[in-house]
Amino acid sequence: MEYVSTRNKGKKVSSAFAIASGIAPDGGLYCPTTFPELTKSDWETLAASDYKGRAALVLGKFLTDFSAEELKDFTEKAYAPDRWGGTDTAPVVSLSGGRHILELWHGPTCAFKDMALQMLPHLLTASLKKTGETRTACILVATSGDTGTAALNGFADVPGTKIMVYYPVHGVSPMQKLQMVTQEGKNVSVCAVNGNFDDAQSALKRIFTDQDTIEKLSAQGMMLSSANSINWGRLAPQIAYYISAYCDLTARGAVEPGSPVNICVPTGNFGNILAAYIAKQMGLPVHKLICASNRNNVLTDFFKSGGTYDRNRPFYTTASPSMDILISSNLERLLFYISGQNDEAVRNLMEQLSQNGTYTITPEMQAALAELFDAGSCDDNQTADTIRRLHENEKYLCDTHTAVAVSVYEDYRARTNDTTPTIIASTASPFKFCKSVAEALGGTVKCEDVTQLDVLHGLTGQQPPAPLAALRGKQPRFDRVVEKEDILSTTSLLAEL
Ligand SMILES: *Cc1c(COP(=O)(O)O)cnc(C)c1O
Repeated sequence: MEYVSTRNKGKKVSSAFAIASGIAPDGGLYCPTTFPELTKSDWETLAASDYKGRAALVLGKFLTDFSAEELKDFTEKAYAPDRWGGTDTAPVVSLSGGRHILELWHGPTCAFKDMALQMLPHLLTASLKKTGETRTACILVATSGDTGTAALNGFADVPGTKIMVYYPVHGVSPMQKLQMVTQEGKNVSVCAVNGNFDDAQSALKRIFTDQDTIEKLSAQGMMLSSANSINWGRLAPQIAYYISAYCDLTARGAVEPGSPVNICVPTGNFGNILAAYIAKQMGLPVHKLICASNRNNVLTDFFKSGGTYDRNRPFYTTASPSMDILISSNLERLLFYISGQNDEAVRNLMEQLSQNGTYTITPEMQAALAELFDAGSCDDNQTADTIRRLHENEKYLCDTHTAVAVSVYEDYRARTNDTTPTIIASTASPFKFCKSVAEALGGTVKCEDVTQLDVLHGLTGQQPPAPLAALRGKQPRFDRVVEKEDILSTTSLLAEL
């Protein structure tokens, strides 16, 4: 399997090279040039396998320079039952009306990022070896909350790596912040940025392209790498859970083998829903991919407005902070595919985005999009209302991000009368966003600390996940705050880790 940059398909690289590099030197994202197909015998193997086995099979289709033994070993470690509260790594909970909630948050930091970030350290360290890299990999992460916690947890004390996480001062939940600033490990550091997620992400992109910094670090035996979802090693492990969910649904008779499902995904950086798109290209029967946004509805407008992406708009801080994003990086990969792998077209669009904050795709690309994608958004009131209704009517407790997807799906269904069974990605434990969830249920939360868990427990009778309960009594290790203009200077801290 060969990989190319979305902005230059002339240079082909291996999956190990793509994972070791993170972002391509031209600023593009690495993509496979073909999609492997799942055969009849693959589906039989998948149906008979547990989650680890399914993940190893799907990854093996893309990571062809890794042996089956390696991938089996990595998935055994990444999805070990003691890290996931049991063997049901990505359970599907069926609700009324053909809605099936795919719970992706049973990992160590209680959000779906764990699905990929428990795998990435294994993929990355192996990729570095395969590509002859001997320097220490310094993972820099910009986070809207969940990536940071999950990346810190995944990389903590992994030999040959260091990790530095940048999070926006305003816009992460108290629980997310607590998880980050209390993270243990000799090779980890955390830095708050005075700005929003896009500021942190843009500043990070500058570090990655700053030749001076790169050379300085290299002289000290370090190289930069990314754990953001621009890294192919982040995206690849996410494809498996949609395929796994389909296997579970056919096994329980909720879907006839071979018949289509919709997939509705609460979307921020467009990584999770892109994984669903790739699963479809591999042969997963998907009717519609429904892209759900909060009030930061730049993607809804893109899908609905005739293919104009326009980030020139107010940025809102919402109850679903992991989706408070105006530049969805992984959309670039979708543009690459729907343009027929036209690297020049992608280069031009991305140039327009960086110069003017907006671009418009061609009518052909638009038509390709409209066939497969639908989209919608909802505000914080609708989100809260959805949490309350699900809890009252279905006895199902969901977080704010999941509620956005459920609400957008309900709108879609009412608008289209499409009754295709639908997988709705649930991306975080409700206990990670206690305040918003408790308030949606009519409670009040005054505290900004771990006792928030007790409030939600009191309202619902449900127990918080063990990793969140374990935050009680932990002391913060990191309190640094930097201006976004000063991010570059923080790379000197890496030498101290
Ligand atoms: C990251 C995240 C999202 C958005 O996922 P993308 O892959 O960035 O689209 C949604 N919900 C939660 C809880 C997240 O952590």
